[in-house]
Amino acid sequence: MRSWQRPGVPDLDRLGHGAGERPSVHDVRRDGRAVVPAGPVASMYTCGITPYDATHLGHAFTYLAFDTLTRVWLDAGLDVRTAMNSTDVDDPLLERAARDGVDWRELAERQQQLFRDDMEALRILPPDSWVAVTERIQPIADAVRRMLDTGDAYALPAVGEDGTPLGEDVLFDTTRQRQFPMGFGSRTGADEMLELTREFGGDPDRPGKRSPLDPLLWRAERPGEPAWDSVLGRGRPGWHVECTVIAMQELHTPFTVAAGGRDLRFPHQEMQGHHALALGARMFSEVRLNAGLVAYEGEKMSKSLGNLVLVSRLLQQGARPAAVRLALLAHHWREDWEWTDDQLEAAEQRLDRWLEWSTTPDDDPSLAESVVPWLRVTLHDDLSTPAALQAVDAFIQRAPADEGSLAAIDALLGIDLRSVARR
Ligand SMILES: [Zn+2]
Repeated sequence: MRSWQRPGVPDLDRLGHGAGERPSVHDVRRDGRAVVPAGPVASMYTCGITPYDATHLGHAFTYLAFDTLTRVWLDAGLDVRTAMNSTDVDDPLLERAARDGVDWRELAERQQQLFRDDMEALRILPPDSWVAVTERIQPIADAVRRMLDTGDAYALPAVGEDGTPLGEDVLFDTTRQRQFPMGFGSRTGADEMLELTREFGGDPDRPGKRSPLDPLLWRAERPGEPAWDSVLGRGRPGWHVECTVIAMQELHTPFTVAAGGRDLRFPHQEMQGHHALALGARMFSEVRLNAGLVAYEGEKMSKSLGNLVLVSRLLQQGARPAAVRLALLAHHWREDWEWTDDQLEAAEQRLDRWLEWSTTPDDDPSLAESVVPWLRVTLHDDLSTPAALQAVDAFIQRAPADEGSLAAIDALLGIDLRSVARR
């Protein structure tokens, strides 16, 4: 589907600063650092939104984290390829649409447009492919069919509330995977996995499951729910297999990074890895990255708790998009943190100081120092944007504005001081 407009990214190499290095990032699976990518191609699949509560600061923080990684990769002169989904048919979306008395497709389309507008305002680089799940129902059904054929999946009868037979659901057999769980799951206790399975709608108590953790791959049509004809009969796909198939179609496995918020590491990302193995991949991704979660008023920001701070609302209230960006970049991408309103004002003031500096004349460009190495050294170290912002703060105290520094702040931090409005 249509993505959003890509902001310009200055090429620091062409401006005479050489190329940056590959970053070292914290990989969830090995619980340690990895320099990525291993080869000349840098590819990333990012779990996208379920379009019913776009775009709160938790979303923005996640996508900004992976935007920073993309910018560091571009600066390293790598061939960068990115893909993301939109979970545009799923239980929470359908429940929201039913509650509000709107068509689920309209709700999804409206929220996706909001997301586009917010991402564009924040100058987040769009994925090369942004794929809606409803655009890939057939390949997903075909993949589930293959898993049934290989014995990686099994069918369970679906029955309505009144006992009416409704066809067959298909589940993934986690007991068949010799290395289950792998990655984060391998350091997670059985109780916690069960708890998370329940929290994410995994129905662990369903009779007939080979393991309580087995996730749904295909849901047979239920009355009043959207469904598509397929090799599996009428129904719709499960959540984890959607991302698996879209990622495998858009990027060669193993691609470099599977990315998402920390709340996705189990079961969602874990199951993706297993589904990919069942579908013949040697490995799903080289590393898994999890962005931290943003709280507000003491709780994780979520629609169900009603404590959302929406990007669009901050912008309507007059916040400059670059200031919202700076407020988010002031936190390390892996940190869990809490939004408070004073952080925006602090970011607005920082932006004013940077703007003031950006107009100071550089009398002798031949003597100019540049912030380029400062930004690179901080960002290569696990994308430390807080350190990068402090580096700029320190730099502007001692040197006039030069072309290279302005370009680097744009290329690596996504802030084009030449286009930011004054307050
Ligand atoms: Zn996903």
